Amino acid sequence: MSEPGTAAALLTHLDVDVSTVARLLPDVDLHQIRVRHGPRWLVRRYAGIALPWGIHLRSGLDTSHVLPTLLHELVHMGQWQRIGLVRFSIRYLGDYVRGRLRRLGHQRAYLAIGAEAEARRATVILLAAVGGAKGSPGDQL
Ligand SMILES: [Zn+2]
Repeated sequence: MSEPGTAAALLTHLDVDVSTVARLLPDVDLHQIRVRHGPRWLVRRYAGIALPWGIHLRSGLDTSHVLPTLLHELVHMGQWQRIGLVRFSIRYLGDYVRGRLRRLGHQRAYLAIGAEAEARRATVILLAAVGGAKGSPGDQL
């Protein structure tokens, strides 16, 4: 994968129908969201991460992980659009901290975050809508 540009460009590159994804993610503008690699320190642990200025994907990510990771991060961007980045962040961190206070380890506390559970469910639906098993999720944030 070369430097992907926008989410729409990367979806097209992956042979995915952009309009199908746009219909299922009406809160995100696929043509405006920037997608880029790294930096390495940021994506060392995670295959992808959504930040206010765009989505970062791990460079050299296995091809089968690119689409699920991209879709997962796009779902998060839709969540931000719906409830606002500040409220999203407070809920996200609150869910995580509550998990840790329940003595869950990092990974289980992360998986228990409401926004993450929603993103996993939505990614499954999106993958099915765009023609299915073009990969499986890596570890996203
Ligand atoms: Zn996530």
